[in-house]
Amino acid sequence: MNGATIIDGKAFAADLRARVAERAAAFIATSGTTPGLAVVLVGEDPASQVYVRNKAKQTVECGMRSFEHRLSVETSQGDLLDLVHRLNADPAVNGILVQLPLPPQIDEAAVLAAIDPAKDVDGFHVVNTGKLAVGAADAMVPCTPLGCLMMLKHYGGELSGKRALVLGRSNIVGKPMAALLLKESCTVTIAHSRTRDLADECRRAEILVAAVGRPHMVKGDWVAPGATVIDVGINRIPAPEKGEGKTRLVGDVDFDACVGHAGAITPVPGGVGPMTIACLLRNTLVAACDQAGVARPEI
Ligand code: NAP
Repeated sequence: MNGATIIDGKAFAADLRARVAERAAAFIATSGTTPGLAVVLVGEDPASQVYVRNKAKQTVECGMRSFEHRLSVETSQGDLLDLVHRLNADPAVNGILVQLPLPPQIDEAAVLAAIDPAKDVDGFHVVNTGKLAVGAADAMVPCTPLGCLMMLKHYGGELSGKRALVLGRSNIVGKPMAALLLKESCTVTIAHSRTRDLADECRRAEILVAAVGRPHMVKGDWVAPGATVIDVGINRIPAPEKGEGKTRLVGDVDFDACVGHAGAITPVPGGVGPMTIACLLRNTLVAACDQAGVARPEI
């Protein structure tokens, strides 16, 4: 089999951002309020700095307000919690995102728990994970799995009844992804490091979402003919062909080996990655609508 659709995450995310900008403009016109997103970065991790810069830029491009809080790597848990409490109380802030990972002196769970669930645009607060688990319509859904679901709905055909395999069971990707697919009436299997016969599990899947953090783990003969493959993994590997000491990004899926088997597949980079920030902007607008008592827009 050949001729898989290569899912263009960049274009898909640009479309989503355009829809968010349009709905944000309508919300601003009717409510007189501009949705605001506060992003908190503790420390100077270079990758996190790039993410935070991109988030701020794209928030403003969508017509919303961006508030950046950059704190020293030595910030205490108490000081970070004080900031979160101030943002919770600030009416100009509709969404709060604390960039992970946090330095070791800070208890990540305590910080996530301190965020007002109504402003939890990352969807990591247990109130929102609980709502997602029971299928509540007003859950704030984590951005990366939400982006994957949007692409699956567009490229994967009818989801109801399909066999889906989610590879990875993290709280930020694997578990919410599985909950979303279950809500779409897929038959969902969650695989992880203790799963036996992983290749066989993968081969049964009509939808395969890989979120493991292991470069090129999913091989070509693990993919059922025509399956839709979503690769969440972002792994940096040496790329001597680009010069000494150079690196490149690859996914958890061996793209070149799998593209001939899949019906549709996301590349890395340019697949899931761009959707994550677009979904964050969507969640910020949704949070602003919820807080204003306005119906959530269809986006
Ligand atoms: P994580 O918290 O490290 O979880 C990895 C999961 O993979 C765990 O459940 C682990 O199983 C499982 N796993 C690890 N090795 C395995 C193996 N050999 N066989 C089967 N399962 C295995 O990672 P994460 O935060 O979910 O992220 C996963 C990947 O997605 C990373 O590459 C990350 O960079 C990327 N990511 C991308 C985006 C984006 O915007 N595109 C967003 C978030 C994450 P156990 O639970 O048994 O240990």
